[in-house]
Amino acid sequence: MSLRTQPTLETLRRANAETLKNLEEDATDFIKQVVTEYPKRLPVVSFSGGKDSAVVSCLVRKALETNEVMHVFGDTTIEYPDTYIFTEEFRRASQIPAEMFLMPRAPLDWFEMCERLEPPSMILRWCCTVFKANPLGMVMNTINNGGVLSFEGIRRCESASRRNAEKIYKNKKISHQLSVRPIIDWKDLEVWLYLLVEGILINPVYKKGLTRAGCLYCPYNSPLTDHLLSQVYPEELKEWRDFLVEHARQIGKKDAVEYVA
Ligand code: SF4
Repeated sequence: MSLRTQPTLETLRRANAETLKNLEEDATDFIKQVVTEYPKRLPVVSFSGGKDSAVVSCLVRKALETNEVMHVFGDTTIEYPDTYIFTEEFRRASQIPAEMFLMPRAPLDWFEMCERLEPPSMILRWCCTVFKANPLGMVMNTINNGGVLSFEGIRRCESASRRNAEKIYKNKKISHQLSVRPIIDWKDLEVWLYLLVEGILINPVYKKGLTRAGCLYCPYNSPLTDHLLSQVYPEELKEWRDFLVEHARQIGKKDAVEYVA
């Protein structure tokens, strides 16, 4: 760290110490309370590789006073390349045992599934079920007879659709899972401050301009995200574009290149 940034971080730490302490205490007290309330359920951190789940991982391990907490990372097979590297670095730095960091995935990868079905779109979004809900559900429904408490980094200020999200939520798709959101009311700035002050590893995708750690080929990516991804991961994006053009030809589009553009 340079001489210029050292005092800045220290200033941040001092200026926000009380706020962050209160946020941390509220969150860890809540985690302890839920774990006590549901003693048969196994505490599990739902890890996405993003900043919010990194904070939740830290809070859950602090609350339970152990790094031996089960983490589950649903591998869609098209996570950003940095996310795969970061996830392993985070696990090691956090001293979470490898056998407690599960990465369930579908039997076939993204390209194999897209060949068998067709590329997902905003109209036909089969991938969330195939690559997220099903593999995660398999783990969550079988990992513990008494069910799981899935600690998640969902926050209300992330989007309009999450504004009314519940702090404790009975997952309808995964019957054994009770979703618990300890940082649901944290603001973006509070998350960033906590990461910096606590020295928690941060996925490098944020420094590259991306706002979240997600799926490389998500049909819901904004044009800006797609543009950034094409700059950050040009080879991976070209591979997908070539696949789409070939698919367009196979379904009879004469103007396949323009069709995909
Ligand atoms: S690509 Fe998008 S829609 Fe598909 S699984 Fe990933 S986030 Fe869900």
